[in-house]
Amino acid sequence: MSPRSERARELAAQVLDPEMPLLTIEELGILRDATVDDEGRVEVSITPTYSGCPAFDAIRTDVHDVLARAGYAEVTVKTVWSPPWTTDWISEEGSRKLAAFGTVPPPARADAAGGGILVPLTLRCPHCGSPETRELSRFGSTACKALWACNRCGEPFDHVKAF
Ligand SMILES: [Zn+2]
Repeated sequence: MSPRSERARELAAQVLDPEMPLLTIEELGILRDATVDDEGRVEVSITPTYSGCPAFDAIRTDVHDVLARAGYAEVTVKTVWSPPWTTDWISEEGSRKLAAFGTVPPPARADAAGGGILVPLTLRCPHCGSPETRELSRFGSTACKALWACNRCGEPFDHVKAF
């Protein structure tokens, strides 16, 4: 990657996810690429976390604005669907922040190569650590998150859906 493209990527990487404002789109793993051509035109590729996610339009706008403000003449934000985003793309720092935020980061998915069987998901309560939790709603505060609650302390928490 050229230094010029790297600079554009760094700018785009600062954009926060409106769903989880502690996380940048870099930490969420949805920022794929940024390239700047000889004319100073920049093209950013982003992979949506979820096709129905209304936050995605806001992310596109924010990425466009941050680069336009930095002086890039022409900014194109491209949506890349393949390969599809998975929660595995969330960075370590991103997972740490999600946990601190009371949003349980999804477990790493069983690797197909390992031949593992996906066991029913049990989430630990981010408040008290109890494994006795239940899903309240498939759609939590946003379409991208499910709402869970803890049987022990009764606290609700969001779970970022794994796909
Ligand atoms: Zn609890």
